[in-house]
Amino acid sequence: MKLLIVGGVAGGASAAARARRLSENAQIIVFERGPDVSFANCGLPYYLGGPIAQREKLLITTPERLQARFALDVRTRSSVEAIDRQAKTIRVRDLVEGREYEESYDKLILAPGATPIRPPLPGIDLPGIFTLRNLQDIDRIKAAVDQGATQAVVVGAGFIGLELVENLVHRGVAVTLVELQDQILPPLDKEMTTPLLETLQAKGVRVLLGESAEGFAPTEAGVSVQLKSGERLPAQLVILGVGVRPENKLAVDAGLEVGPRGGVRVDAFLRTSDPDIYAVGDCIEVRDYVSGAPAQVPLAGPANRQGRIAADNVFGRAVTYRGTQGTAIVGLFDRTIAMTGASEKSLKRAGRTFRKVYIHPANHAGYYPGAEGMSLKLLFEPDSGKVLGAQAVGGAGVDKRIDVLAVALQASLTVFDLEEMELAYAPQYGSAKDPINMAGFVAAGMIRGDHPQLDVEAVLALPPAERPYLLDVRTPQEFAAGNIPGAVNIPVDDLRGRLAEVPRDRPIAVYCQVGQRGYLATRVLRQHGIEASNIGGGYKTYRLFEPATS
Ligand code: FAD
Repeated sequence: MKLLIVGGVAGGASAAARARRLSENAQIIVFERGPDVSFANCGLPYYLGGPIAQREKLLITTPERLQARFALDVRTRSSVEAIDRQAKTIRVRDLVEGREYEESYDKLILAPGATPIRPPLPGIDLPGIFTLRNLQDIDRIKAAVDQGATQAVVVGAGFIGLELVENLVHRGVAVTLVELQDQILPPLDKEMTTPLLETLQAKGVRVLLGESAEGFAPTEAGVSVQLKSGERLPAQLVILGVGVRPENKLAVDAGLEVGPRGGVRVDAFLRTSDPDIYAVGDCIEVRDYVSGAPAQVPLAGPANRQGRIAADNVFGRAVTYRGTQGTAIVGLFDRTIAMTGASEKSLKRAGRTFRKVYIHPANHAGYYPGAEGMSLKLLFEPDSGKVLGAQAVGGAGVDKRIDVLAVALQASLTVFDLEEMELAYAPQYGSAKDPINMAGFVAAGMIRGDHPQLDVEAVLALPPAERPYLLDVRTPQEFAAGNIPGAVNIPVDDLRGRLAEVPRDRPIAVYCQVGQRGYLATRVLRQHGIEASNIGGGYKTYRLFEPATS
């Protein structure tokens, strides 16, 4: 077997190592256009900001080590230019010597990744305007900062954009973040990103939402970024993080099928429309695990696993790829945000019915020092309670909850399973009722009808005359510190004695700080014949939709 692999980083290197473990006899050649293989793309922003101090730490392995341990023939600075599917050969350009040669294959795995989008805007090729994909890119960005850049514009508030913002701030650079959408981190639901927006603002980052870069002009000190609003932003450094495009040229030129967004089409075995050619990683179109629809999800975990699976299939093991859930996480200063599965907006786009809960628990028992809060949103099917997606934002413990929910989603568990989930507990790690259990209790209570719940944004969207009677059941101190306009305060402990004050001629929307006292008050009111519902997640959820700064 002669196996050729195009691309030597996440998907390609995984495929190559797996292939060797499966076959000592195969001839395996990896072609990588750049000078490095198997480098840590995900670590690049942290080399700029300082946490990763040594550049060589980003080089997970070298061609020499891959040769020594896996007997791989790794050819760096070697660009694969074309595939001849009839002859089963590829044409390779040796970028050092400038010569071209052909190499034959029995099987070919494409893992060329995705390339950062550089929109064709006026001035886009001026010095000082960067994208980030590899070590050479971060070297250039770092050099600009080392040479004294004091003002940066980051265009695009996605995962990589935010990581760059954090690391630029660590270096003392004043950053303006420009984002076309009306929120940061567009894959997530907007309200869940509110705490990060507040963090960015607290760190002095200027965030311009609903704004776009329209062009760039040279200035004496660097570049001026021309915004759609007419404003011009001076900068010495501009970084574009506006998304990636699958590197599909080889596949397209060879007549392989690609999807509408350019991803190479593969079957469940990661085989392209040519049975001798597999494709993995950012260059392929995957199946969205929740919707089943084709999707483009550029993440390292899927790329690595797909590399293994493609190699398995090359060597005769029929292994299928289950699809991509889009489980993702990003840290921003002391905050973490993470998601898995569908978002509310993707479910709405797909016209799918769902229900949702918000909870605002601490990562571990409140009585143990150092508990940190989080907000967790769970999306599930209305009747079966099947988990469809989740998002969480906060401090410690966000990663653990999203990972548990990612497993729940993959295993097709329901909110009733979440109620029963037995998770590790001691006070410094969790709670006897873990946030996962709590989300399950609330969601299952909704389905069982024990817990009539209202969505705060639906209440706020009503004209004031049509809104339910808003009953705030927190303490007077909490009420005074901030409340939903129009609400009346009756603390939950006084409620039974003050029932006469609650109107019976209109529905009551109860809320507390996080939803728990509101639930209790709702139960009290309903058992006294009053039509009451609880605002899910209480005042804290309200603040996600209506930030204190807005
Ligand atoms: P890549 O890892 O990009 O490798 C493709 C390689 O193929 C490239 O080195 C390219 O030079 C080479 N190549 C392309 N065409 C040819 C050709 N014709 N001939 C020869 N070689 C070729 N994902 C996460 O899940 N979590 C993170 O925290 C995260 N952080 C990231 C941070 C940054 C700055 C970046 C850039 C990406 C990050 N990602 C993260 C995404 C993740 O790195 C990618 O999803 C993953 O690397 C994709 O793997 P891949 O093998 O498809 O492509």
